[in-house]
Amino acid sequence: MESKQILEEMFKFHGHVCWASAMGLRASIAALRELGVVRTGIAGELYCIVEIGNNHGARCFADGVQYGTGCTLGKGNIEKAGWGKLAITLIDVVNEKSVRVSYKPGRQKMISESSFMKKRAAGVPPTQIPQEEAYELVNILWDAPETEVLSVGEVKPHPFEDYGELMGMKPCSNCGELTSVAYLRVVGDKHMCIPCAGYGR
Ligand SMILES: [Zn+2]
Ligand SMILES: [Zn+2]
Repeated sequence: MESKQILEEMFKFHGHVCWASAMGLRASIAALRELGVVRTGIAGELYCIVEIGNNHGARCFADGVQYGTGCTLGKGNIEKAGWGKLAITLIDVVNEKSVRVSYKPGRQKMISESSFMKKRAAGVPPTQIPQEEAYELVNILWDAPETEVLSVGEVKPHPFEDYGELMGMKPCSNCGELTSVAYLRVVGDKHMCIPCAGYGR
């Protein structure tokens, strides 16, 4: 079983204790293991597609994935598929192979009987449920055998095109804020950032 220390560190990053971020972390650890790689601090090593959408429960899953894989919004090596699913495809960019890992609801009975879920079902907001009760649910999933809570796919070849980084930044001629040159827009004889230019993109 994975150490609980990484779980604690991830909760600090995420901001609260919850089962979905814990499962994102667990899915990440499984994906790294299958690919035979480790969490990365470099954008060019791993790329992650996380299948969550924009407006549903359990999106916290993606924070566990960011923490677990090191693929982050800032590095730009993570993207949301927007499918509303708790799954990732982790790509080993260097060796061009990938694996998909998804959450499997194999402990639904224990989950629905937990005091956390009973309170959620009664309409109590998650922020008003004591942390010990959130932990009860986390532990049900974290301590479960992997085959009960995750589906781990086969490692497959995954050709990967890297478009590189767009270099260079210049100040917007309207607001003066530094903007990546690829995102400056031409307005008359001036170059402006997107919000100043008033364009959608
Ligand atoms: Zn959360
Ligand atoms: Zn501007």
